Amino acid sequence: MEVPVYPAQIGAMKPSILLAGLLAASANTQARDSKPADIIVYVTGDGAPSGPVDYGARGTATSILARAGVNVLWRDGEPKGGSGPGSAVVIRVRFSGKIPEQASREAAAYALPFGGEGTAITVMYERIFAVAGRASRARAILAHVLAHEIGHVLQRTNQHAAKGVMKAHWTGRDYDAMERKPLTFTLEDVELIRLGLAGRLGSRE
Ligand SMILES: [Zn+2]
Repeated sequence: MEVPVYPAQIGAMKPSILLAGLLAASANTQARDSKPADIIVYVTGDGAPSGPVDYGARGTATSILARAGVNVLWRDGEPKGGSGPGSAVVIRVRFSGKIPEQASREAAAYALPFGGEGTAITVMYERIFAVAGRASRARAILAHVLAHEIGHVLQRTNQHAAKGVMKAHWTGRDYDAMERKPLTFTLEDVELIRLGLAGRLGSRE
């Protein structure tokens, strides 16, 4: 349940109450209607962006994926222990400080979509920032890079769409659009994600 906070009330409220409200609100966005997480994304690596860019991008990626019906939880660090049948899909994201050999010349990130448990996504944030030129644009692009690579992992393909989150090559126009409003997955992408997720989660639902 959400308690609306009007600007006029904020001055009269004690900071601790306000903080509790904000924490409750962020908990709601992570597990809407206490629906269990479909995927848990573990983030590691030595090439991570600053906190505001990293966490801002995660927030936007969460809403992009939520619109495709995927409930995401983010964790810092490595996954601990195995997961039993019916638990969330585990995906690892690694921010790479140096450009790995497997990376193509202009890619900002890549996924290994056919991997098993703990499938890894590598993100080269340096390249994203080089394209973006400023933090706010880099945050928007990073959010879409994360959603795109998670899309590959869930669809279990290297397939791309003609537009939106799963487009193979974004243009300057796409980056402009991302800054204004997050892109979406196409209906076909959403369908493939649902099928992939259902296969991975088995008989949980
Ligand atoms: Zn791709």
